[in-house]
Amino acid sequence: MQPMDRRLMREINQNMLLNLIRAYAPISRTELKKLSGLSLGTIVGITAALIEQQLVREVGVAESTGGRKAGLLEIAPGGGYVIGIDLREQLIAGTVLNLHGIVVYEDTWPAPLRNNATQAIGLIAAGVEQFIERSRVAREKVIGLGCGISGPVNVQEGVSVDSWILDWHNVELGKPLAEALDMPVFVDNAVNCLASYEKLYGHGRRFHDFLLVTLGRGLGMAVVIRDDLFRGAQGLGAEFGHIPFEVDGRLCECGNRGCLEAYIADHGIVTTYHELCADPVVVKAGEANIADINELYRRAKEGGRCAARAFELTGERLGTGLATLVNLFNPQCIILNGGEEHRIDLLLEPMHAALEKRIFSQLGRDLSMIVEQETTPINWARGAGCLVLRDFFSSPVNA
Ligand SMILES: [Zn+2]
Repeated sequence: MQPMDRRLMREINQNMLLNLIRAYAPISRTELKKLSGLSLGTIVGITAALIEQQLVREVGVAESTGGRKAGLLEIAPGGGYVIGIDLREQLIAGTVLNLHGIVVYEDTWPAPLRNNATQAIGLIAAGVEQFIERSRVAREKVIGLGCGISGPVNVQEGVSVDSWILDWHNVELGKPLAEALDMPVFVDNAVNCLASYEKLYGHGRRFHDFLLVTLGRGLGMAVVIRDDLFRGAQGLGAEFGHIPFEVDGRLCECGNRGCLEAYIADHGIVTTYHELCADPVVVKAGEANIADINELYRRAKEGGRCAARAFELTGERLGTGLATLVNLFNPQCIILNGGEEHRIDLLLEPMHAALEKRIFSQLGRDLSMIVEQETTPINWARGAGCLVLRDFFSSPVNA
């Protein structure tokens, strides 16, 4: 065996053990042997090195089969830190996560990113440096930066292909940010970031195949198949929001007509309201902002029939869209993420009714539906940090 191969093999074994310790902690070396198939000698050697590097620690002892005490291992949370940022139109949300995926510091700061791709790298890099300083985490313990952004992303190249929300097109982020910050940088679609969190630490831990659907400013989706994100041939796949929903329907932000997002996203709900009843108080359809959707929600809650009907119709449409997903993917679980303004409660009943009506055959029989009502910019940033953790705990063979 060449020295290079040996090093790679050791790295693969080390990452496998790190991942097993993450998933099964607290765990003994004997159990690691059973799960990994490695020899006890190899495990003892690698875990000693990991303890030395402060990435793994001993936590108590368990009775082993021979009556001897066996040391139990877990990932040392403070052995390293990752930074996750979520890029918004006018602000950046940032988190510092420890190796347990727990947020140890969080903050948001203003950054005029929309329509400002030329200054993006400078703005982001300076913001992240100051953020790390404020967090008081030792710079040398930072393993890498994960960066979440709306719209399709070329993950290999770290390029934002199209972000309609930021009005960015073919903006290179990965390489220039890695150079500016001198650390590994991972860029992915924001919903894929959230799904990475769900898979590592959230509801997704229990499922091999699940879908994450996000509501709010847009309509996003991430697809996890056999524990891995599905991306499609060009890596840009799973654009649930832009499946054609109505022939020659509403104009969508992407330039097409009739996309589902134009009906389900916040501005879509406002447009529906306008179609149902002309109301000059709420601004013109297509120019809706967060104030308008909040106003509509308030009216619906207070018994306004027209506003309530707009949410009901949106729920039906969402349920129809979800039925399409169930019929295509037959997932174990759909995690529905209700956006940041807690409006999903008005959609749920009509959504479930439409979903039940339209699911094909028995595809929905064992479907788990998990609704997360509360999301904050910090949740999205935490997801971005999980891009780095996912890489850290994955085998280089799969990378
Ligand atoms: Zn579209």
